[in-house]
Amino acid sequence: MKKVPFIDKQTAEAIAAKIPTPFHVYDEAGIIENIRNIKSAFSWNSGFKEYFAVKALPNPFILKIMKEYGIGVDCSSLTELLISKAAGFSGDDIMFSSNETPEEDYVLAKKLGAIVNLDDFTHIDYYDKLCRLDETMSIRYNPGGVFTVSNSIMDNPQDAKYGMTKEQVFDAVGIMMERGVKHFGIHSFLVSNTVTNDYYPMLAEKLFELAKEVHERTGAHIAFVNLSGGVGIPYTPDDEPNDISAIGEGVRKVYEKIFVPAGMDDVAIYTEMGRYVTGPYGGLVTRAIHEKHIYREYIGVDACAANLMRPAMYGSYHHITVLGKEDEPCTQKYDIVGGLCENNDKFAIDRMMPVIEKGDLLFIHDTGAHGFSMGYNYNGKLRSAEVLLHPDKSFDMIRRAETPSDYLATFDFSDFVFE
Ligand SMILES: *Cc1c(COP(=O)(O)O)cnc(C)c1O
Repeated sequence: MKKVPFIDKQTAEAIAAKIPTPFHVYDEAGIIENIRNIKSAFSWNSGFKEYFAVKALPNPFILKIMKEYGIGVDCSSLTELLISKAAGFSGDDIMFSSNETPEEDYVLAKKLGAIVNLDDFTHIDYYDKLCRLDETMSIRYNPGGVFTVSNSIMDNPQDAKYGMTKEQVFDAVGIMMERGVKHFGIHSFLVSNTVTNDYYPMLAEKLFELAKEVHERTGAHIAFVNLSGGVGIPYTPDDEPNDISAIGEGVRKVYEKIFVPAGMDDVAIYTEMGRYVTGPYGGLVTRAIHEKHIYREYIGVDACAANLMRPAMYGSYHHITVLGKEDEPCTQKYDIVGGLCENNDKFAIDRMMPVIEKGDLLFIHDTGAHGFSMGYNYNGKLRSAEVLLHPDKSFDMIRRAETPSDYLATFDFSDFVFE
């Protein structure tokens, strides 16, 4: 499918006149419509709740949109909890799915009344001593082995650091019941960025069977099953987009097969999608500032991997549109590169594009999740601004760009003067 930016050249230039490139821009209308579709896909389940994975796009202005449209947040660190609190979240609107958790993180999660998802058996005592177990606790499960969908191996849970074994899940429930826990949730995250409508239903089948067995063996009340994240987006023009209503229907079929006959039709379905919720509704806008002709043809841009790490880190494909040249033929083969002293700082390699001139604005697609948030400061590069494009095409800066003094602030010892 042709990938079309949600912003045109005129709007991008209007933003760039006030907020210098590079910047990430987010499409509020797209996010809102997508949230509506997600809620509608699971509306058959009266307890359904999406907990947006904050690490995908940790900006309180974005989280306020989530709050307004009735979805919760999934946090895994102290700072994510603080951002969520600032955006108005508390209580069971917060899922705390962390691992290797420091004490202070659990203490804050407890204070905010979050639902705590324990990653390991040893965390029962760790959390109980620190905070006392809650009436509702969630358990993260790791089924081990390999996970296959439609006969192809999708991932190897046996090599993943997360979650408890099946036996540990039964033991955990038993111990927590003795200590007064009344309601349980089962959580698992097996595969990232799946582009198949079968992932959630297959995962649901595994988790519903487990939840049923836990209920039958221990008598525990299963309050929810959390399918977590992993629903992917079409990064390339060839990827078939997921159909969230088909995914919701697939999960419903499994629910009716397993939970309804077992008399467990009060179990709520939770999800913790990040990428699927905001991924396609963000873009990195960057300007072409150099061209270089050596053994290959390079276009140098003012963004770098510090603003969007996925291509450098995973070799991920991100589609790139030259704004204003959407309909021009792709006659040139370019490497689109940033300025890090790292040869993997390439947004695209051997990409067929229209002729790019210095000053052109490039729109790097699908940076709305795990884009800005994976940024870093290598080479003293600074994090960019973030901009929210409203449905009426007006815009607000929702995070300013870093300045050198932000970078230097942690050297604030009296021995040095930075000017
Ligand atoms: C990262 C993460 C998510 C979100 O994953 P996506 O692939 O962005 O949907 C959800 N839950 C947990 C525990 C995570 O670590």
